[in-house]
Amino acid sequence: MNIPFLDLTKQYSSIKKEIDTAIEQVIFDNAFIGTSENKYVINFESNFAEFIGATYCVGCANGTDALELALMSSGVGKNDEVLVPANSWISTSETVSTVGATPVFVDIIPNLFTIDPSKLRNKITTKTKAIVPVHLYGLPANMNEIVAIAKEFDLIVIEDCAQAHGAKINGQPVGSLGEIATFSFFPGKNLGAYGDAGAIITNNKEIASKVKMLRNHGQLKKHVYKMEGRNSRLDGIQAAILDVKLKHLKKWNAERNRVASIYTQLLNTNNVKLPQIPEGFYHVFHLYVIRTENRDQLKSYLESKGIETSIHYPTPLPFLNVYEKYNLTDNDFPSVSLIKDQILSLPIYPEMNDEQIKYVANSINSFFE
Ligand SMILES: *Cc1c(COP(=O)(O)O)cnc(C)c1O
Repeated sequence: MNIPFLDLTKQYSSIKKEIDTAIEQVIFDNAFIGTSENKYVINFESNFAEFIGATYCVGCANGTDALELALMSSGVGKNDEVLVPANSWISTSETVSTVGATPVFVDIIPNLFTIDPSKLRNKITTKTKAIVPVHLYGLPANMNEIVAIAKEFDLIVIEDCAQAHGAKINGQPVGSLGEIATFSFFPGKNLGAYGDAGAIITNNKEIASKVKMLRNHGQLKKHVYKMEGRNSRLDGIQAAILDVKLKHLKKWNAERNRVASIYTQLLNTNNVKLPQIPEGFYHVFHLYVIRTENRDQLKSYLESKGIETSIHYPTPLPFLNVYEKYNLTDNDFPSVSLIKDQILSLPIYPEMNDEQIKYVANSINSFFE
């Protein structure tokens, strides 16, 4: 049997009519560009803000730009430091550098893979301006503790929700737990466009209107500039596609949980460590990540069985060559150093059927026998 890591075609087949109609409409309307009058963009922004339970959603070109716009609009820049988790996609830290600030990496909780709140205090200096917790793999970071520390030290909290559309803590969606939140709609994310797309979410009117200007050359209205900005608009076609897919997101997240719970049932825990979920947290399983000492051998074995797996991420952020200048070592990040050669992401997507899930789980169990 061949099991791809992700199968976006299966999902498209299930909603083809809705999607094709939506795309055709945008083309007939010539509503390609996400100016502030584009009704497809406005509709999606309004529906997504409601889904998250926040006041404002401002669409932009991708999740990386969303982070950059969030940092810029909250005044993070030169001489500032921003706390970021040691395990994430590079966007989380590179955007801090792009706005002229310095990313300060914080170790993770090994069982949860998210930023360790107990390690924040040691990293806070007079230059610290913001914390960017990442709800990695679809599991919310420990926001209660993070927000409490942020309050104590007067830091801005920017949630990186790129992997966690619809995840919750005690019923409260991520994206509504800090000052600003950023989303990516990269095709493979839980809510994915058919190209690049992103958004920021906030309840802060000033931040929302600043991001709205920044994404469109700093224009207050056409040819009236409040500042220099850039072009980071959300396409009309992508907005229309996202609006169709948003209606299915809750169901798809439930399906991801079904896949995860079958894995959790079938996998032999003598051999592998399984994802943990703290009480009251709703995990949306963007990724199902297991840990094993025999990671590389297991990965090759699964490949030979036709099963595609992945690693998120092969090198933790502090150890990337682009951050060599900070001279960080394994000793600075014991938890991320421990898990980095153990983590393996298994295939997971809402349309995976029981037979496929069982094949993956049984293959993993048989590798260890
Ligand atoms: C995908 C991702 C991003 C960036 O999103 P793009 O839309 O690809 O720019 C940022 N942070 C995390 C944690 C991500 O997984």
